[in-house]
Amino acid sequence: MDITIIGAGLAGCEAAWQATQEGFQVKLYEMKPLQYSPAHKSEDLAELVCSNSLRGAGMNNAVGCLKEELRRSGSLFIEAADATAVPAGGALAVDRAEFSAYISAKIAANPNIQLIREEVTSLPETGVTILASGPLTSPTLSSELEKLTGSEHLYFYDAIAPVVEADSIDFNIAWRASRYDKGGDDYINCPLNEEQYFNFVQELVDADKVAGREFEKLIHFEGCMPIEEMASRGAQTLSFGPMKPVGLPDPKSGKIPYAVLQLRQDNRHATLFNLVGFQTRLTYPEQKRIFRSIPGLEQVRFARLGSMHRNTFINAPACLTDSLQFRAAPHIYAAGQLSGVEGYVESAACGFLAGLFAAYHLRGERLPSPPAETAFGALLGHLSAADSSEFQPMNINYGLFPPLEGRKMKRADRRLAMAERALAALPQWWENVASRREER
Ligand code: FAD
Repeated sequence: MDITIIGAGLAGCEAAWQATQEGFQVKLYEMKPLQYSPAHKSEDLAELVCSNSLRGAGMNNAVGCLKEELRRSGSLFIEAADATAVPAGGALAVDRAEFSAYISAKIAANPNIQLIREEVTSLPETGVTILASGPLTSPTLSSELEKLTGSEHLYFYDAIAPVVEADSIDFNIAWRASRYDKGGDDYINCPLNEEQYFNFVQELVDADKVAGREFEKLIHFEGCMPIEEMASRGAQTLSFGPMKPVGLPDPKSGKIPYAVLQLRQDNRHATLFNLVGFQTRLTYPEQKRIFRSIPGLEQVRFARLGSMHRNTFINAPACLTDSLQFRAAPHIYAAGQLSGVEGYVESAACGFLAGLFAAYHLRGERLPSPPAETAFGALLGHLSAADSSEFQPMNINYGLFPPLEGRKMKRADRRLAMAERALAALPQWWENVASRREER
């Protein structure tokens, strides 16, 4: 029996590799070189479309932990990265041409993978399939996908507001409350007086922005306007819009501030909060500088900065099961950026998991989920348990891991302890998968 995989990018190649390690034959469809997305340029598979960095190598960054889990679990992606690494300080960066050539050669030499250079224009009605066509999925296939998810659950743009670590907010200034006390203490609020507000608006208007491309202009018609665009429409636009202070008296003075930034819980462990309505196209240094001028956020640490760009992805918590199957079509699995993760390593990790889930499915079994303490588990947790009304793709970060119980630790030590806990929990899951492979 075969598994069909659509898209031979980072997720698709990893999924294909794992499925063959599980003993299955794979039909791997790739539309290049007959058709290229606006970002892809090379005929090779697993193309890195932008940076050649796979980000931090150390355990102080959760992506380092995710890479180590992939390394310990026989991933082709990380094998290729290690084999083609170039010096990059504390990061893992690769020679992009060698990296793609390495994976392309491995796929070509695998007798159980049939690579078919063809655009897939519809989703198979039967047969186990992994959809890994990426953030720039071809338009015809996107329309087919929309039929499966419903248009309300398929997005074509990221309109991402920054996310910050809750314990870096200054609660001598900020306070927890919902507008008019509805919903208890759900939000964190940062007050601005009149002078602070107008300075903030001026900074937004004057700030350096990332240039938008033609297709991105659409965003403005979709009700996801960047904060700086709103600010440029009038000095009061924000104080009557996302920063309106009504129903939010500052408990220290009992008075309503001139304007308020609200932060909303972003992960189930309440360690991350997003800046409500602050989707932005400001450059990263400008975001850090300007958002840290808001009272209460002077020392804030950003888990993710805001951005707006083209990115096809599905609302995973609404559309997928916790094993990446479409609820509306359980024979189809989603993998990679399309499934709602963000980043090269995350996309490959998602392909790794989808390949295993699909193989077990075909064998009539269910793969146990990786432990929640692992980076694999944290990534899946984001896709299945995030709030579907606010869902946005996310890089792996320690805020997605279950918190550590007990003693207080410095941030750096806490991160290392989370990585240690993840790598200690991995073998109980992975060794079971590996020993079953050996038995077959
Ligand atoms: P891809 O790697 O894009 O693979 C999908 C494959 O499917 C492609 O080869 C495509 O040709 C093929 N395909 C599409 N439609 C069809 C079809 N109908 N039939 C057959 N084949 C099809 N992440 C980072 O970590 N760092 C970065 O610097 C970075 N830069 C990015 C820049 C851009 C412009 C974009 C859009 C994304 C970027 N990302 C980056 C995010 C993400 O990590 C990458 O997009 C990553 O390649 C996603 O992996 P994937 O396997 O999901 O998709």
